[in-house]
Order: sequence, then structure tokens, then C-alpha cells
Amino acid sequence: MNTDLIALQAQLRDFMNTKVIPRESEFVGHFGLEKIETVRSELQAEGRKSGLWLPHLPKELGGLGLPWVDAYKLFIEAGRSMLGPQAINIAAPDEGNMHLLHVVANEAQKERWLMPLVRGEIRSCFSMTEPPPGAGSDPSMLQASAVKENGVWKLEAKKWFISGAWGAAVTLILAKTIEGATIFLIPMNHPKIHLKRVIPTLDHFSPGGHCELDFDGLELTDDDVLGEPGKGFDYAQIRLDPARLTHCMRWLGVAMRSLEYAEGYALSRSSFGKKLSDQQMVQQMIADSHIEIFASQTMIEHACGMLDRGERVRHQASMTKVFVSEAVNKIIDRSLQIMGSTGISEDYPVSSFYKEARPFRIYDGANEVHRMSIARRAFRRAAERHT
Ligand SMILES: Cc1cc2nc3c(=O)[nH]c(=O)nc-3n(C[C@H](O)[C@H](O)[C@H](O)COP(=O)(O)OP(=O)(O)OC[C@H]3O[C@@H](n4cnc5c(N)ncnc54)[C@H](O)[C@@H]3O)c2cc1C
Repeated sequence: MNTDLIALQAQLRDFMNTKVIPRESEFVGHFGLEKIETVRSELQAEGRKSGLWLPHLPKELGGLGLPWVDAYKLFIEAGRSMLGPQAINIAAPDEGNMHLLHVVANEAQKERWLMPLVRGEIRSCFSMTEPPPGAGSDPSMLQASAVKENGVWKLEAKKWFISGAWGAAVTLILAKTIEGATIFLIPMNHPKIHLKRVIPTLDHFSPGGHCELDFDGLELTDDDVLGEPGKGFDYAQIRLDPARLTHCMRWLGVAMRSLEYAEGYALSRSSFGKKLSDQQMVQQMIADSHIEIFASQTMIEHACGMLDRGERVRHQASMTKVFVSEAVNKIIDRSLQIMGSTGISEDYPVSSFYKEARPFRIYDGANEVHRMSIARRAFRRAAERHT
């Protein structure tokens, strides 16, 4: 590992320990979205001057320009707190949206939306999922539609579970058009976007919550189209391949920190005449968690190498997402179990991590759907071998 990266990791660990993790105590019990917004902007003020801002984005965008095989280590480190990715501007959904805008947006769109996102001045959201009978796991069920007449697009859509929508400045929205699925870029203060509700959910740490939105006959121009009409699903994939992996990185940080609390507890707590750390069933839980962390890191690093070489990682990102999301949930669950009632309390963040991590098996594609896609690809290859 190069010495610059070791120094950056140490710097980020120090930043997390001194600036970020101490703020977690403000989030015990009930807190609102306003609170997250305030702490987020205060931490970003620190993050901007920390020299750790946007490690993976090119230097011309104000990032550190690190390759993924290096940047992923910083994503894991920042992931040790739910607030860490916010502080250095690598949190979802902005991080995935910045990547997509960087790759696909035209110069005017980059100036209007990408640059303020990069500077952390605004937030964004990505509107794809719809209430039944619209698109969820199956994107071909997309109901949102935009029809073009006399040069003006008219958009009708109902979307829900849109992370970050409350307080976001812009949404990327997927709708069907005559050309196929198309992504539009729309300011969230548009008078015909109705934020119906912030949906009450199991998790609480997403800035802007998860929202239900109606898009009620918005009139849009070609300037609001991202890239080419009809390429929306391709663009969604450009966003999702790295975005699935970065979710894995951030959640792995959470799992590692949970395990550290469990190890500390097991070393200090005795039961039936010996330390918990000497109880074999506890040892098994600790060992299984370390095995899963190592396997997760290895999968992420492999996929990062592919990203750096410009290779498509769709299959590998799917496999990594399934494995890591399940591993992370198991590791946090075991950690909480080892800590007994202490794990359930809010004296430690493990109980909060338990709630926050559960949705990861559903979003970015439910794990069952990834398994279906992985198996389909495997059978396609098997069929080719047999012809
Ligand atoms: C916390 C959170 C944040 C989110 N953020 C966003 C966001 O920012 N933007 C956005 O557009 N969406 C977002 N989503 C939505 C998310 O992408 C969808 O929940 C996900 O795609 C699944 O769609 P669905 O909820 O409609 O489930 P459904 O499609 O109704 O599926 C329900 C369940 O059925 C099972 N299932 C479905 N298909 C199959 C299959 N082929 N084989 C086996 N089992 C299957 C799976 O277990 C799945 O969980 C978010 C969701 C959550 C929970």
C-alpha cells in the first residue's frame, strides 16, 4: 500500500474520531430531518477543509483523484459512522448522481447541477421506484411517462421511497418516452412537484428521508433531458454499478465498527466463570464475522480493480451487493447479540446500525432479484457451452 494512502487513512481515522463520531451522541432518541441537515452542513464545512473531500472524484472536480482500489478504503473508513460519508460528500444518493452527471451530463447541466453538488452546496435525489402497479423490482413496469408535443415534454409520474427528496435541489427522474426510458433533470422547487409525505421507515439517518412524490403535468424542454432520450436504463446502470459497490464499502465500515464494540464487550464481560471471549459460541460469532469482513473486502477490492480498468462490473457488483448486504446484517446482528442488553440500548450505536442496515438487502435491487440475474447469466453461459 502506498505511503500517501496510509497517511490519508490515518488522517481520516483521526477526522472520524475527533469531528464526526462525537456528533453521534446528538442523535439518540427521536430526531428530525432538520437535525440531520444542520449537522450535515456543519460537518461538511469541516470536511471541505480536511483534504479528504470526494476522494474518488477527479482533481478537476475538486476531488482527490484516487483510483477505486485506493478510494474504497477511505469509503470504508468514513462508513464507520452514519455521519462520515456526509462529512466528506460521499454519501448516497449524491455520490451516485455525481458520478452519472460527470459521465453523461452536458456542460450546462454540469454547471447547473454537478458543480454545486461537488461543492456540497445542494443535495439531489434519484426518482425511479413507483407505488404499485409501477416499477419496483421490475423496471419494465415503469408508469411515469413524458410525451413530447411541439418541443415541450409533459411529465406525469408518481414515485416513492425517493431518498433525500425533502430538501433536495434537483431530482433525476426516470420516465418512459416514445424512445424508451429517459432520465430528466428537474429542480425540486418546481411548482408541479408535490412532496406528499416523508415515509416513516425503520431507518432514520438519510438526509431528506425517503419520500413520496407526485409529478403533476410538468412541462420540460430538451435542456432537461440527461443524455439521449431512450437511454435511461443504460444510464441508470452506469450509476448503479459503482453505486452498489460504494454502498457495500460504507456499510462494511458500519459492520467493522459494530464488531469492535462486540469484541470490547466480550473481552470485559464474564459469564459462567469465564470471559465471554473465552466462550466458544461467542468465538464462533466473532470468527464468522471476521471471515465475512475479509470476504467482503476481497470482493469489493476485486470489483474496484475492474472499475479502474474500465471493465463492466455488472455481474460482480451484483454478487458483491448480495454477499456484503447479507454479511453486514449478520455481523451487526451477531455484534448486538454478543453485547446482550447493552447492544439493544442506544448507549452504543450498534442498535441504530441494526435498523439502518436492514434496508440494504432491499434497495439497489432486492437480493432475490440479483440472485435471479446472476443465475440467468450463469445459465446463458452454460447454454453457450452446451451448443
Ligand atoms: C430505504 C430505502 C431507500 C430507497 N431509496 C430509493 C431511491 O432513492 N430512489 C428510488 O428510485 N428507489 C428507492 N428505493 C426503492 C428500492 O429501490 C425498491 O424498494 C426496490 O427496488 C424493490 O422494489 P419494491 O420495494 O417495489 O419491491 P417489490 O418489487 O414489490 O418486491 C418485493 C419483494 O419481492 C421479492 N421479489 C421481487 N422480485 C422477485 C423475483 N424476481 N424473484 C424473487 N423474489 C422477488 C423481493 O424479496 C422483494 O424485496 C428505496 C428503498 C428503500 C427501502
